Amino acid sequence: MNTPPVIVWFRHDLRLTDHPALHAAVASGRPVIPAYIHSDDGEGDWPLGGATRVGLHHALGALDVSLREAGSQLIIRAGASTHETLSALIYETDASAVYFCDRYEPAVIERDDAIASALRRVGIEVHRYRAGLLYDPAEVYTGQGNPYTVFTPFYRKCLAMPPIRSPLVRPSEADWQSPETWPTTMSVDELGLLPDHPWHESVASHMNCSEADVLGRLDRFLADPVTRYKDERDRTDLDATSGMSTGLRFGLVSPYTVWDRALRARQRHRSSEARGQIDAFLRQLIWREFAYHLLVHFPHTTTEPLRENFAVFPWVDDEAALQRWQRGQTGYPIVDAGMRQLWQTGWMHNRVRMIVASFLCKDLLIHWHHGARWFWDTLFDADLANNTLGWQWTAGCGADAQPFFRIFNPTAQAEKFDPEGVYIRRWVPELAGLSGQMIHEPPALHRPSDYPEPMVDHKRARDEALAAYETVKAKSLA
Ligand SMILES: Cc1cc2nc3c(=O)[nH]c(=O)nc-3n(C[C@H](O)[C@H](O)[C@H](O)COP(=O)(O)OP(=O)(O)OC[C@H]3O[C@@H](n4cnc5c(N)ncnc54)[C@H](O)[C@@H]3O)c2cc1C
Repeated sequence: MNTPPVIVWFRHDLRLTDHPALHAAVASGRPVIPAYIHSDDGEGDWPLGGATRVGLHHALGALDVSLREAGSQLIIRAGASTHETLSALIYETDASAVYFCDRYEPAVIERDDAIASALRRVGIEVHRYRAGLLYDPAEVYTGQGNPYTVFTPFYRKCLAMPPIRSPLVRPSEADWQSPETWPTTMSVDELGLLPDHPWHESVASHMNCSEADVLGRLDRFLADPVTRYKDERDRTDLDATSGMSTGLRFGLVSPYTVWDRALRARQRHRSSEARGQIDAFLRQLIWREFAYHLLVHFPHTTTEPLRENFAVFPWVDDEAALQRWQRGQTGYPIVDAGMRQLWQTGWMHNRVRMIVASFLCKDLLIHWHHGARWFWDTLFDADLANNTLGWQWTAGCGADAQPFFRIFNPTAQAEKFDPEGVYIRRWVPELAGLSGQMIHEPPALHRPSDYPEPMVDHKRARDEALAAYETVKAKSLA
């Protein structure tokens, strides 16, 4: 009698290296069916955004190529219900087990728990693994048994936890068993993830779509730029960060692999200076863990402020202003550069994310929801935990957030982090001819006719924001 196959359910882990579910399934010695189930159910209020649909299209294609090189293939199915679609595949293939890596978005946890219980009830083995986070959000608590809401103690607690496991190697081809007959599969194209708009072609050229591309980028970063990371990570004109966020979002690389390779790079350097730079990079990976810790423990924060008194903040409804921000037409060069980089490449530098978010929430007084939704739709690395943390942090209403009264001056930020205006010239070409400091704040006389004048006066907008903040303060005192 044939051994029944097992299904490896791929989700936000579209890779072969350090994939504990795949590793265990292959090690079971049973035929392995790698599967991807497409459905929006369980994603709650956050169905895939436009850029992540494009990214997913390419990442699935690349995963199928890697699997085929290993003598396997990806089975793609789609349906309104993940549970029903997965069950149909199990039934068709007579699979005896499902292996998968956990996700941590609240709605997905609920869906996956329900699916796992239902499968177990009908005698299907379910094997679940942690692969997307270094620490289980349910295992990191303060001394009083509460979740953390401040980063630094969370970071210290993480460093005091048992060492992070080493990444698993990709299963060797000789160990794979495949089913005698493969079930039918849809093609990636049939999922219809790409929009009609030709935007997707140019934006996709900026994404590292495959596991090999992402690991190559990681190794290049760790070979040298990481030794300047702490000093240069805020410089918008330099390519000084790892570029790992999209790979982490799709699981083309695991955080264990990033952590392990960064630690090895640290060991190669003797100087405390270089090690300090690498420590700053490792620390950012813990910010990602903190974001998931908050998401799991405070799931309402994807839409509600963590600081409840912010619920009364008098946000302004201004569709026209929102559109100018989205299109990079605010008249503030660094803000416009960031918004255009986002639209054209599906990515934006972290410092600029903070500047544009501050501009939306504090200069325009537009609710951070609108910014979070726009990022969700346009970022390749759109991630519910990191995006929520980033927006609540900038708006001043989240855990360990920047205080509301600290309002970024976009011109001063540009002068500091894009001193020669290289970043602005790259993304706002109509300003390329401006020399010196004019690039940061084009004077009316020199402003090109096709570039807008500033849509608000920053100083006045700042005063108005602080006045609006009084309502929150009043609420706190009441
Ligand atoms: C308003 C706003 C929205 C954001 N939305 C997202 C998002 O949707 N998805 C996303 O991945 N990041 C988001 N970030 C965080 C950060 O901007 C990106 O992770 C970073 O720019 C990615 O570039 P990198 O991989 O080169 O980062 P590096 O500087 O090389 O950092 C390495 C990794 O550490 C993690 N990391 C770095 N900074 C942060 C941070 N501030 N918060 C949490 N994790 C961090 C990321 O996983 C990143 O890939 C947001 C930040 C802000 C201010």
